[in-house]
Amino acid sequence: MTAAKIAIIGSGPSGCYTAQFLNKALPEAEICVMDRLPVPFGLVRYGVAPDHVGTKNVTKQFERLFAQDNVHFIGHVDVGVDISLAQLQAMFDVVVFASGLSQDRALNIEGESLQGVIGSGVLTRWSNDHPDTPEFIDIGERVLIIGNGNVAMDVARLLSKNAADFEGSEMRPETVAHIQKAAVKHIDIVSRSEMDAAKYDAVMVKELLKTEGVRLVLGHNAQGEHEKSMLLTQLAEQSHDQQGTDIVFHYGLTPQYLQGDAHLQAAVFTNAQGEEIVFSADTLISAIGFEASCKHPLQLRDLHTDDTDLNCGFLQHNVYCVGWARRGPVGTIPENRKDAKLVADVIVAALQTQDIGNKGGLKDLLSNLHQPHTDFDDWLRLNQFEISQAVTGRHRLKIKSTEQVLQWLNIAKQSV
Ligand SMILES: Cc1cc2nc3c(=O)[nH]c(=O)nc-3n(C[C@H](O)[C@H](O)[C@H](O)COP(=O)(O)OP(=O)(O)OC[C@H]3O[C@@H](n4cnc5c(N)ncnc54)[C@H](O)[C@@H]3O)c2cc1C
Repeated sequence: MTAAKIAIIGSGPSGCYTAQFLNKALPEAEICVMDRLPVPFGLVRYGVAPDHVGTKNVTKQFERLFAQDNVHFIGHVDVGVDISLAQLQAMFDVVVFASGLSQDRALNIEGESLQGVIGSGVLTRWSNDHPDTPEFIDIGERVLIIGNGNVAMDVARLLSKNAADFEGSEMRPETVAHIQKAAVKHIDIVSRSEMDAAKYDAVMVKELLKTEGVRLVLGHNAQGEHEKSMLLTQLAEQSHDQQGTDIVFHYGLTPQYLQGDAHLQAAVFTNAQGEEIVFSADTLISAIGFEASCKHPLQLRDLHTDDTDLNCGFLQHNVYCVGWARRGPVGTIPENRKDAKLVADVIVAALQTQDIGNKGGLKDLLSNLHQPHTDFDDWLRLNQFEISQAVTGRHRLKIKSTEQVLQWLNIAKQSV
């Protein structure tokens, strides 16, 4: 077989793991992993909480992948904007969408556009210095989180930690100071499901109590028999005497509407009996999952044909999807590895049954790009720079804006 030319769109875990498996099975293949951002690694850099530095270390194995001559990172290329799918299909034998899901799922209730209502994706990206987020986010003293997965726990932890607890993290000191200024005293975590169906991992709830002054409290319908429910009950007893921030867990409540003039004042829920329950809140953070950005010109659902089979990541002839783009916003980083193996196996099998043409691959891609793009060497230099700029007690100091990243890289290129 002639060497295949493979384009992977998205350099988050699913894109990188897919590149890893394809590279293993087809060591001669040319693999280009593209990202709309000038830096790689998707939600590992911009989603995983900035105080979970150990989790972010998975990037080290991806860096070893990009160090190989046949695997390339091409950043600052938004597929569907800077280059079309049709162009990529003309240049590559296979195109794989590993583009994730970047938009917070809407609550779809009245009042959602009030000030003070934000998505957990926005908040966690902001805490990670994502270029698309504002400098500061409006956070009040009384916070309401809707959702009960690990992202909800991340948000509760970031808002309840003391400044000193961010030692060793990647969280920018200004971001920490901004949250400390909000002095969050009360966090309600409200979930539609019953306590026994809570989605968060036990370890995430336990971590909340590592912060001095945090008290876990059982709220509406907080009764259950599941191991996790018992743990929460036990942690609530254990933290009973703490004073600082209360985190109150409520279950079995469905959001109905939000109240406020311009700014959020309260959220109204109903319980199983149809009774209204009102929570006053300055800030509401929805943590109920993610979906594809409705603003992007390239929508994967438009690529579906009668032959599309998402079970194996097949979208249409030689076009595949993997990771969150394939199976929705569920699962941790390791689950994308399993996903990548499944889709890579399907691609390898399909390639064996067809002639690999003489596609131009990377060479053609680069000659068709009209905007500045980044490569893996750029990332290595930027990474080193960010680590070198870390202030005391921090792991790195990220350059936030895309313009600044590109500017710094251009300056760096000239001085090499
Ligand atoms: C807030 C949060 C915290 C999390 N914490 C953890 C954790 O602690 N541990 C854990 O194991 N998992 C965690 N996860 C889950 C984990 O991040 C996901 O499982 C994983 O990132 C999904 O990988 P992906 O590659 O499918 O998507 P992503 O990581 O989102 O990567 C998609 C990439 O595609 C790029 N892209 C999108 N559209 C285009 C386009 N048109 N052109 C070019 N590039 C494009 C994006 O810029 C992005 O880099 C967390 C998730 C969130 C949201």
